[in-house]
Amino acid sequence: MNRPDSPLDRLAALRDSKRWDVLIIGGGASGLGAAVDAAARGYRTLLVEARDFASGTSSCSTKLIHGGVRYLRQGDFALVSHALHERSHLLANAPHLVHPLAFVIPAWRGIDWVVYGAGLKFYDLLAGHHSLDASVSLNRQEVIAALPGLRRKHLCGGIRYWDGQFDDARLAITLMRTAIDLGATCLNYLPVTRLLKSGGRIVGAVLRDAESEEQFEIQARAVINATGVHADRVRQMDEPTAPPLLTPSQGIHLVVDADFLPGQQALMIPKTEDGRVMFAIPWQGKVLLGTTDTPRPELHQLDDPLPLDREIDFLLHTAAGVLVQPPTRTDIRSAFAGLRPLIHPENNSDHRSTSALSRDHAIMVSTSGLITIAGGKWTTYRRMGEQVVDCAIQVAGLPAELSMTRTLKLHGCPTKPENDNPLGTDASLLIELPGHDRVLHPAFPYSEAQVRFAIRHEAARTTEDILARRTRAFFLDAKAAESSIQRVGEILAQELTLSPERLQAITSQAQQSARRFQGIPPDNR
Ligand SMILES: Cc1cc2nc3c(=O)[nH]c(=O)nc-3n(C[C@H](O)[C@H](O)[C@H](O)COP(=O)(O)OP(=O)(O)OC[C@H]3O[C@@H](n4cnc5c(N)ncnc54)[C@H](O)[C@@H]3O)c2cc1C
Repeated sequence: MNRPDSPLDRLAALRDSKRWDVLIIGGGASGLGAAVDAAARGYRTLLVEARDFASGTSSCSTKLIHGGVRYLRQGDFALVSHALHERSHLLANAPHLVHPLAFVIPAWRGIDWVVYGAGLKFYDLLAGHHSLDASVSLNRQEVIAALPGLRRKHLCGGIRYWDGQFDDARLAITLMRTAIDLGATCLNYLPVTRLLKSGGRIVGAVLRDAESEEQFEIQARAVINATGVHADRVRQMDEPTAPPLLTPSQGIHLVVDADFLPGQQALMIPKTEDGRVMFAIPWQGKVLLGTTDTPRPELHQLDDPLPLDREIDFLLHTAAGVLVQPPTRTDIRSAFAGLRPLIHPENNSDHRSTSALSRDHAIMVSTSGLITIAGGKWTTYRRMGEQVVDCAIQVAGLPAELSMTRTLKLHGCPTKPENDNPLGTDASLLIELPGHDRVLHPAFPYSEAQVRFAIRHEAARTTEDILARRTRAFFLDAKAAESSIQRVGEILAQELTLSPERLQAITSQAQQSARRFQGIPPDNR
């Protein structure tokens, strides 16, 4: 089996073994959740990711493990209830990665105070014994104490409720490590380029190593397409005339300094001018503002979408309406966009609005047996993984085994609850690595040892992998992170014995990426 702690021989498992029970295409929340579930049931599991783990939508979320208060308005009670149950499982299985966070909904009109209070009581009810704490009504003074940065004119009170917060890319890396602990092989930079068929049935796939161009043909009894917004492309490898299933919708976030929203509680604006929800959330020493819901049916380039000017303006304008000292464009430390793989209802050709489309997931099986899972939320990744593996057992006739993930502790889960380092028990290993006493950059809490750890144990292959997803430097302050590119490159070159050409290529890719997080289109500084 491939271990990420052998980065120089990362493809050994593909050479050793050509036959797998389950092949999962895509290393985001959906694919990694399926890999953990399949490996925990004892199936020979291979997951391949075209780029880096969580390099798509799964690192660009609002970073909430939540039922989704706004889905109550849509009447999606089942989705909310399932998500609230999953929130509780995650808090128990990954306490180092998920923690409760208080949200305050301010009310500037008495009627809103009553309506939000009733809605949040219903939220509590759906959570049942999985509730983190009961929502409470706050008077004007209590709201101001919780959110000192809030505009006070006409403020009458508010409601406080609780949800979960996490680091999305860190959870993805943890799931990859958990799947490997359970015997799976998980490989990044290995796109599926073709599906293999025999007698009209899918029997495997062709994979291409993006670093060496080496090709591999592998056989699998079940093939799961978990490629998010790319799912239609993989479906069309199976059936070239398959009609598209997805309507991509873009959501962006802006990251600003914590001074714009002092305190430890999040602000939730339940109705923006376009009828959406907007959050301002303390996250890793900064504040995250988001999000938008912009239909992007025209997107041909599904990798690394850029925030649109009008989306940035919209978030700043909404923040200006509620904050005493609102941020402006020059205050933005980082900006990023993600694409929701929403399933559009049959016969829906109206791509103008996506905010009303369900956030629930769907599982489809083609006539040749390709299993596609799409839609859903980070919060429900475990349940989605369980259901898609149940489906694979049926489709491929695998020996039936029950899902184990509901109570499965994730990699690094600490034995002592006070250990809330996101690396969990792995944090103690950093001390043994060179650079544990050298910070990568004074703006961030990362040591050089963490960079080495990411390369040796977390399958990081490029500077961007380290600055965007093993650490969150690009997401927190893209300009500061840009000045760490050279040092990270030097460490990568040492650890992976990189050629000068390869080092040059990953350095210039990281520079492009730093610009993207500063909202600058490629090659246009
Ligand atoms: C703005 C925004 C905010 C969100 N906020 C939240 C939130 O707060 N809480 C929450 O629960 N959910 C949230 N979500 C939803 C959640 O982020 C997504 O549902 C989830 O990340 C989707 O994961 P995925 O694995 O399906 O897709 P992705 O993360 O996109 O993963 C698919 C992967 O497949 C890979 N791939 C594509 N083609 C191939 C190929 N041929 N071979 C191999 N690999 C391939 C891609 O490179 C990609 O990494 C949010 C979504 C958005 C857009």
